[in-house]
Amino acid sequence: MEAFGLALQKASASEQINQREIVALLSADAEQMPALFAAADTVRSNTVGDAVHLRAIVEFSNYCRKNCLYCGLRRDNKSLPRYRLAEDEILQAAGKAAALGFRTVVLQSGEDLFYSAAAIARIIERIKQKHDLAVTLSLGERSREDYRVWREAGADRYLLKHETADERLFRFLKPGGDLRERLRCLHWLKELGYQTGSGNMVGLPGQSLATLAEDILLMRDLNVEMAGIGPFLPHHATPLKSAAGGTLELTLKTLAVTRLCLPGAHLPATTALCTLAPDGRRMALGCGANVIMPNLTPPGVRDKYLIYPQKSDITEQPELALAGITSLLAELARPPATGYGHAQNFSGGNGNGKLEGRVYQ
Ligand code: SAM
Ligand code: SF4
Repeated sequence: MEAFGLALQKASASEQINQREIVALLSADAEQMPALFAAADTVRSNTVGDAVHLRAIVEFSNYCRKNCLYCGLRRDNKSLPRYRLAEDEILQAAGKAAALGFRTVVLQSGEDLFYSAAAIARIIERIKQKHDLAVTLSLGERSREDYRVWREAGADRYLLKHETADERLFRFLKPGGDLRERLRCLHWLKELGYQTGSGNMVGLPGQSLATLAEDILLMRDLNVEMAGIGPFLPHHATPLKSAAGGTLELTLKTLAVTRLCLPGAHLPATTALCTLAPDGRRMALGCGANVIMPNLTPPGVRDKYLIYPQKSDITEQPELALAGITSLLAELARPPATGYGHAQNFSGGNGNGKLEGRVYQ
């Protein structure tokens, strides 16, 4: 049997596959792709089940101290009008999420030190006091002490994509950054008992299938509870404006292989994927995804959280978006989940944060 078939057989039988085998799966041609997607869909159904978790995302600030080459929120993008939501506005958005029946609110922003650790902790506490919501944070790289304070205030999860497992590419894409420092943050988050999410972009300049395989292996080693896989989409006001960007096919293949390698993880149908293809959400749900993250950012500022152009959820009204999602899920016979959607493979933090296999400290 050829490399693709052998690797698929092994991964479908829950055997660990290596970098070469992951590359063989990522190389699937048009004839092989349906088998890859079907295998990922079966693993998804057998492990995390058919329910789809809905997480409301609130993008509360587009200020950022970082200058990532790929991102529209980068510090040097002077053409972007900046905004910050006040504490009460964030609380209102969370309240709206709760009223619409969400069980998780995701608070995301650029790396904005305007919000002190204490201010974020207060927001988490107020959300927890008032609403029956799990809280996910996605605020970038901060100190271990900040992460500790937020965890103590009640934060349940943290999303911090490693973006690329290629150290050189990481340094190029994130000036002044270091992959090891980002991994150290992920390590702390695990130690502190967060359900931890990482992830990567697909189609970054200079990325190869071997790099993508390393991304998947890294997340397997980290034993992440969540993995966000989306295409890189070039933004006109960034240094990467002329780059090619990620394709739908390769993003779906990466998502499917990630499901095979991280059977119990929560994998979102990312907004970036939905931006690339109008039917992206349906396709992602068919090849491993089990999470959707509708946008609950107040309409007045939403168009300013422009990570990449034509973001698909810019104009979506939450009620309409939810109606669309409900009818898609009914059509796919995938019920919306009713619980918080805590990670299945989550043991409440192992207390030592040790990573198996490679050492990334
Ligand atoms: N500032 C935090 C951070 O970087 O972790 C959280 C917010 S950041 C906007 C969220 C994610 O947006 C990043 O992890 C990155 O993968 C994604 N992103 C940024 N620019 C992108 C682009 N041009 N195409 C696709 N995804 C992008
Ligand atoms: Fe800032 Fe995050 Fe965008 Fe980088 S990806 S510029 S850290 S918002």
